[in-house]
Amino acid sequence: MRIDKMLANLGYGSRKEVKQLLKQGAVKVNGAQIKDAKQHIDPKQDEVGIHGEIIEYKEYIYLMMNKPNGVISATEDTMHQTVIDLLELEDIVYSPFPVGRLDKDTEGLLLITNDGKLSHQLLSPKKHVPKTYYAIINDRVTEADIHSFAKGVKLDDGYETKPAKLEILKSETNSEIYLTITEGKFHQVKRMFEAVNKKVIYLKRLTMGPLQLDDSLALGEYRELTDEELEELL
Ligand code: URA
Repeated sequence: MRIDKMLANLGYGSRKEVKQLLKQGAVKVNGAQIKDAKQHIDPKQDEVGIHGEIIEYKEYIYLMMNKPNGVISATEDTMHQTVIDLLELEDIVYSPFPVGRLDKDTEGLLLITNDGKLSHQLLSPKKHVPKTYYAIINDRVTEADIHSFAKGVKLDDGYETKPAKLEILKSETNSEIYLTITEGKFHQVKRMFEAVNKKVIYLKRLTMGPLQLDDSLALGEYRELTDEELEELL
């Protein structure tokens, strides 16, 4: 890969700005100053430094976001802010996308990556990856609902859901629950509660497979996955 392309990909500026950096003598490859923008390097093998700082080139990026309400789980939208709009420029250069969708008004755990294979594995209906949600429901959630969800409920389009685990945290006029599902139908949690004549008034995803939402992330904040998280996921 050309050195100017690599540096531009990593967010060090446009090709023109990167050329400028090279001209200034700010770039070293394996300890030797490089001024030629056309110089080819191997991003995996060669050690590239800018102003004396070694930079890391990764093929893939893995980010955990605490998605806020009001933001769309997509890469682009003409009307609304997307989760990608919340990223720093240097992360956008990897062309990341959200793994699956959370509704605009759903908060919580969203994995953002450019690793298509991992995304496919996590979303494949065959893999039955469990996802746990915390929700507030506009009614008293009961033992009968636990049984209904464990058996499977019929959604508005006639689809019968797979067994899901409902835990009641608080059964009041506004109940609080955890729900773990292993599939990802459109608006699934909301439609499951509609099937038992209840309404979700707040929804937040807490887990996806082995990944757990880092509760130190404020809404809209994100961080890279740790090596341990990545190892469990891959
Ligand atoms: N189920 C829903 O209804 N909405 C979400 O955003 C995720 C799961």
